[in-house]
Amino acid sequence: MEELETRIKQDGKIINNEILKIDSFINHQIDVNLLNNISKYLASNFKNITKILTIETSGIAFAIGVSQCLGNIPVVFAKKSKSKIVDEKNIYTARVHSFTKNVDNVISVDKRFLSNNDNILIVDDFLAEGNAAFGLIDLCHQANSEIAGIAVVVEKRFQGGRERIEHAGIKVVSAASIDHFENNTVVFYNEK
Ligand code: 5GP
Repeated sequence: MEELETRIKQDGKIINNEILKIDSFINHQIDVNLLNNISKYLASNFKNITKILTIETSGIAFAIGVSQCLGNIPVVFAKKSKSKIVDEKNIYTARVHSFTKNVDNVISVDKRFLSNNDNILIVDDFLAEGNAAFGLIDLCHQANSEIAGIAVVVEKRFQGGRERIEHAGIKVVSAASIDHFENNTVVFYNEK
C-alpha cells in the first residue's frame, strides 16, 4: 500500500537495524484515516471470514478496522496476562516468544470464543519471526477452527515469518512489506 509505505519513509524510525518504530501513527498514536485505508486493503484479500483473532494490544485496533470492512464480524483478542477469575480448564493457551521484549508470554483465549465452525482471519500489527502468529495459529488448531490467513500491517521479510507461515500452508497478506533496512532507511520488497 503506497500510502503506508510513504508514511513509513516519512515518519518511521529504525532502531538497531532491526526494529521499526511507527508509534506516531500506528503503535501509540493512531492515524485513523490511515487505519481505515489499511483495514480496507487487508480485508479485500479475504472472504467468508466468521471471526478475527488478534493479540493484545496493538493488533486490536486493526482487527476492529478489518472487521468493519467484513461486516462487523466478532473480534477476539488473545490475552497476554493471566486472570485470577479464569479457570484454566476453560482456556486455550500457547507460549509466544516476544521478539521486541525478549521474554516468553503465555497467551490465552477463552474456549467459548473459538470453535470448529469458525473460519478465522488472524490480524496483527507486525510480522517479524512469526512467533506471535504461530501462537495464534496454535490456539486456532486447538479449537479446530479453519484459518483463512494472516493479515498484518507491516512485515519484515528478513526475519523469516512469512516463509514459516507460508510453509505451513497459510496465506499471508501485508499492507507494507519491508525487504531490509539499509543505511537507516527502509527498502520495501517491491523496490528491491
Ligand atoms: P514476531 O512474533 O513475528 O517475531 O513479532 C511480531 C510481534 O512483535 C508483533 O506483535 C509486534 O508487537 C512486535 N514487533 C516485531 N517487530 C517489530 C518492529 O519492528 N516494531 C514494532 N513496533 N513491533 C514489532
